[in-house]
Amino acid sequence: MMSAEPQVERSPKVSDEVKKTTCYMCACRCGINVHLRDGKVRYIEGNRDHPVNQGVLCAKGSAGIMQHYSPARLRSPLRRVGPRGSGQFEAISWEEALQTATDWLGPIRQSDPKKLAFFTGRDQSQALTGWWTQQFGTPNFAAHGGFCSVNMAAGGIYTIGGAFWEFGSPDWDLTEIFVLFGVAEDHDSNPIKMGLGKLKSRGKRVVSVNPVQTGYAAISDDWYGITPGTDGLFILSLIRELMLSGNIDVDYLSRYTNAPWLVIRNPGQPNDGLFLRDADGTPQILDRKTGKAVAHDAAGVRCHLQGEVKLPDGGVAVPAFVLMAEAYLDDAYAPETVADKIGIPAPRVKQLAADLAEAAFAKQITIKQPWTDWKGERHEEMIGRPVSMHAMRGISAHSNGFQTCRALHVLQLILGSVEVPGGFRFKPPYPKPAHVHPKPAGRPDQVAPGQPMAGAPLGYVLGPEDLIIDKDGAPQRIDKAYSWDAPMSAHGLMHMVISNAVAGDPYPVDVLFMYMANMAWNSSMNTRGVMDMLTATDPETGDYKIPKIIYSDAYQSEMVAYADLILPDTTYLERHDAISLLDRPICEADGVADAIRWPVLEPDRDVRGFQSVLLDLGARLGLPGMVNDDGSAKYADYGDYIINHERKPGIGPLAGFRGEAGESDGRGAPNQGQLDAYIQNGGFWHKDIPPAAKYYKMANMDYQQFAVEMGFYDSPQPYAFQIYSETLQKFRLAAKGHGAVQPPEHMRDRVKQCFTPLPSWYPPFEGTAIDENSFPIHALTQRPMAMYHSWGSQNPWLRQIHGYNPMFISQKLADKIGVVEGDWIWVTSHHGKIRVPVAVMQGVNEHTIWTWNAIGKRKGAWQLSPDAPETTKGFLLNHLIHELLPPKGDGLRWANSDPITGQAAWFDLRVHVERAEADAPAEVAPQFDVLGAPPDMPAPPKTLRYGLEWTSTDKTSTGGQ
Ligand code: SF4
Repeated sequence: MMSAEPQVERSPKVSDEVKKTTCYMCACRCGINVHLRDGKVRYIEGNRDHPVNQGVLCAKGSAGIMQHYSPARLRSPLRRVGPRGSGQFEAISWEEALQTATDWLGPIRQSDPKKLAFFTGRDQSQALTGWWTQQFGTPNFAAHGGFCSVNMAAGGIYTIGGAFWEFGSPDWDLTEIFVLFGVAEDHDSNPIKMGLGKLKSRGKRVVSVNPVQTGYAAISDDWYGITPGTDGLFILSLIRELMLSGNIDVDYLSRYTNAPWLVIRNPGQPNDGLFLRDADGTPQILDRKTGKAVAHDAAGVRCHLQGEVKLPDGGVAVPAFVLMAEAYLDDAYAPETVADKIGIPAPRVKQLAADLAEAAFAKQITIKQPWTDWKGERHEEMIGRPVSMHAMRGISAHSNGFQTCRALHVLQLILGSVEVPGGFRFKPPYPKPAHVHPKPAGRPDQVAPGQPMAGAPLGYVLGPEDLIIDKDGAPQRIDKAYSWDAPMSAHGLMHMVISNAVAGDPYPVDVLFMYMANMAWNSSMNTRGVMDMLTATDPETGDYKIPKIIYSDAYQSEMVAYADLILPDTTYLERHDAISLLDRPICEADGVADAIRWPVLEPDRDVRGFQSVLLDLGARLGLPGMVNDDGSAKYADYGDYIINHERKPGIGPLAGFRGEAGESDGRGAPNQGQLDAYIQNGGFWHKDIPPAAKYYKMANMDYQQFAVEMGFYDSPQPYAFQIYSETLQKFRLAAKGHGAVQPPEHMRDRVKQCFTPLPSWYPPFEGTAIDENSFPIHALTQRPMAMYHSWGSQNPWLRQIHGYNPMFISQKLADKIGVVEGDWIWVTSHHGKIRVPVAVMQGVNEHTIWTWNAIGKRKGAWQLSPDAPETTKGFLLNHLIHELLPPKGDGLRWANSDPITGQAAWFDLRVHVERAEADAPAEVAPQFDVLGAPPDMPAPPKTLRYGLEWTSTDKTSTGGQ
């Protein structure tokens, strides 16, 4: 019988074809299926076969359509024609643009390569950009890690050989309790959501330690609304509770960590606090049978965690565990002592310690899987401690963040929960400890005109002798990374580049070259100050203090107006990319994986993928590795480089389908069909780790052998986790006057206080530099799940989720200052004052206010209407944060950074809050001049629509935007 109901098209034709590539709407790099219809993107879905997301797609990922068709896309190379900052440009050809860049860069390479500072933002091609910099010959390179989460990354590498997110993940299928410290939505988006889903469906506990109960914290079973900057104190208190109650895994500590390694006690002497080593340099442990010191890696030896040996030349040596007990059993870490400071009552600290112990020891997991450890000992089973943790920027972005991140790893280690069933598991090519990574290059003897540098600009130092300083101790990098300002910086200090370059400290640069870094807006502290610095001129010559700025981006961000030459990038659907094991991998704990992006659409503008442009520039400059013997370009473009570049014989950007016919994994000759093979395979490559190699990777010879076959290392590199850091102690000894390389006098106390070899806690610097009564409130940002840096809030679909960002405050604070939801407040720091709208919420630490990150926009940028809510009610907290701390008594101003890594201390911010007058204009303060759009960018339509042409109601519309 015919129905009278309207006909519903149940299987509409979605697309003409589907192309599988990798998302770039955030840093997770999920696999996506891009459905194309009539040559345009119709629909994006998750790739169900992809190891990262297994088909899951988030709001950002599906809104990639609007990112790709954004009216803010740059259209052609641009040359500045008005004053810097005015946004006045003329469109030029690529030939003109590349020649201009070559003319700027060529002479400085031949005279002083350091005059180039090349810094990238959320760049996913650091294996290329770092190598390009090395070939150019300048040490002045880093990506955005220094202002993001380097404390977590470096704290992890130096302690356990890897950190969270790209380095490893919870064992979601087996863990019993998951503890999430700080804001984490900023990284590891879909994988954590999928993991949380698994935990919830298995009924396991999720605990959140975060001043704000939002994001993942909102679905936690327990929320600890900690006071910002005190996470380290909380963690050390948990460690004390576990040690006091005997809830630590002594066997694990003895086998897999340096807790038994003998540490010399010889106060005042140059060997005090160093490991006792034999003639070969091997650290020693105390043999339980003989009471003598023996090599820690000797087979069959059982160690003591207590006791001491007398040394012939004075002093004694004790196991590092003895020092741990002395440090952490101190009453200073008692829950009752720390409760007020951390904002968590003592019974709740004790409860979490008990919960962790219960999960680790009462719920022990045993997997019947034989394996062989690094000493050749065979084990019939794998023992698991099902406690897992995760942290990223929340605990990192403090001036005490490095030690806090180390403390968190020590908490995991004493529970025996790293790289075991149910615990935290590494993702290949991690674990990889600091001593296996290269050291950074850039010392005076490693930089020469016209020459590549002797090594990569970034790496891991193992002591003062590895610093990038001259014989007088002066920093050699423009950001002062690897100097006494930030000795173990690892990712550089991008947030200091512009201010140092303008100050000519340690030297001026000639060209600042940046990629995907919105430094004139949300990526800088002291935003107005940075705009002023970018336009600052020499009073005598009238020239800009930073003479030339080259910038590459796909969009008209706020930074574009401050560059002299714009090299327009493609969108992520128009380019080649390698999600490479040489870079930031996408592996899983059970498997190795990498992936590509490839042009699923051709650009309809005069734009080029930045990596192809960089290789073109490299060839024009004659950089080694980028030109053939006859001087011609070695690579046609980035795709050609991905296939043919070898970092060393057999090792290239992609590990899959290597060998001439694609027959090899990991190692193998270049394969001309490699990219096609990836495309056929869904855009990625994946290889399972053998069952006997899946856990204990740092000490598992099956895994070590697998790692050598894959090319992660050339020989097995088993190691012990470093609870006690000899590297930190070496820096401290230097501050005490030992060794050939010592810090300047005015920095010694700071090094002595902060570089403790066992993780410690000290108050965040900003809080001790201001009058706490004048600025009693902590102020933070959190990244919304629906946004990624500044890209998201130009996206018409995502803007509907977060059109502006209020300042969230607690009910208690709202009552105190007399405001209700929708009122406006003034927020004042030692550096600045902003006027912002208020929202009142319950789940926030009562001494903390917070807002979303990077929603506010400058008028005229991103092709948004000048009265868009992002510009009238959206704001940046950045205006309140300075890259320097307030002056000390001696007039000196220290960087607002972690003293060990240089990580930007965004979350140390302290403020004063008061009600704003009711009759002020309903617009945030400060406001800035409206930026103009480049001449070749047409004004966007008033209403952006997409896909109308494919709807059944209007078949005649042209669709598009
Ligand atoms: S989590 Fe990130 S990479 Fe994955 S779909 Fe969402 S935006 Fe894309």
